[in-house]
Amino acid sequence: MEGECELRAGPGAEPMSSTPPWWDDAWRYLQRRRESGRLPHAVLLAGPQGIGKGAFAEEWARALLCETPVAGGRACGRCRACRLSAAGTHPDRFRLDPVEGRAIPIDAVRALCGFLTLSGNYGGWRVALIVGAERMTIAAANALLKTLEEPGARTMLLLVSDRAGMLPATVRSRCQRIVFPLPPRAAALAWLNANAGGEEVDGALARAGGAPFAALEWIRSGAEDPRPELVRELAAVAGGRTDPAAAAQRCAARGAGETLRWLSSCVMDMVRLRCSSQPAVLRHPDLREPLQRLAAACPPQRLFRYLDRLGAGEREAAGSMNDQLLLEDVFIEWRELSAPLRRGRG
Ligand SMILES: [Zn+2]
Repeated sequence: MEGECELRAGPGAEPMSSTPPWWDDAWRYLQRRRESGRLPHAVLLAGPQGIGKGAFAEEWARALLCETPVAGGRACGRCRACRLSAAGTHPDRFRLDPVEGRAIPIDAVRALCGFLTLSGNYGGWRVALIVGAERMTIAAANALLKTLEEPGARTMLLLVSDRAGMLPATVRSRCQRIVFPLPPRAAALAWLNANAGGEEVDGALARAGGAPFAALEWIRSGAEDPRPELVRELAAVAGGRTDPAAAAQRCAARGAGETLRWLSSCVMDMVRLRCSSQPAVLRHPDLREPLQRLAAACPPQRLFRYLDRLGAGEREAAGSMNDQLLLEDVFIEWRELSAPLRRGRG
């Protein structure tokens, strides 16, 4: 069993070719452990959403399965294993992906554990990925514990989570944790320019709160920015211009999980605006003014409590059958919290 030793993965001194530089420290750390035959059996890749933790896990899995790895332990991209990995059909790789906004059920985890008890098809490693690991139900997480503790030889489990704090302590304590920080803006922009280019790179990175993979997805999908509408809903509910049910109905189209995620990051910025003595460094600097107006009337302690409520809401959203009801509840609490705004107006 590995301890909860933490590695801060930051931008490395010598960037590896073609991979984001903010992966370098984590990669080198795992590679050193691999070379010395002490690779952890279970790793939790944690850090903010949209910085490429899932892509890192895939890349590491490919490298581990590769039959003829090249310098730095990278996958060769040419061998039989690499071709199977690229096609997503390598028989020694298993990936659990939750349906967007939904929980990972116990059956899925049991299937993964069953896969790991088989011996490898190609005599090498067996790798399992759980992306969005915080969405495992309690029963699913419990079903994983024994495998986390005794996964078998040449077996590696990669858990990926932007909300590692939501994982049960029993799971976290059985994983080696690698925390990816938000990359420096210059590195993120350089990487985005190399992968997307164009004029919208700067704006997309700002919208994504500095998370380059999220920005790239935004650019490629052409999806619209959900934040201004969400902030308008918050202002309208706080100002008594719309009722929570109507706001919830409009937001439910995007799904409760995603809406709550954005809400949490906006409320976190309000906390920063209320609590920082210097100009606060925000996740959403382009929304500073409207968030400042909303934050002004909310006591910080109540904002903290509201953040807890939103966190609980995210857990509920994973198993929720009624997104609108959940969001309505959240907007009702926001209306209570922001009551001073209405008193200020009246
Ligand atoms: Zn290969």
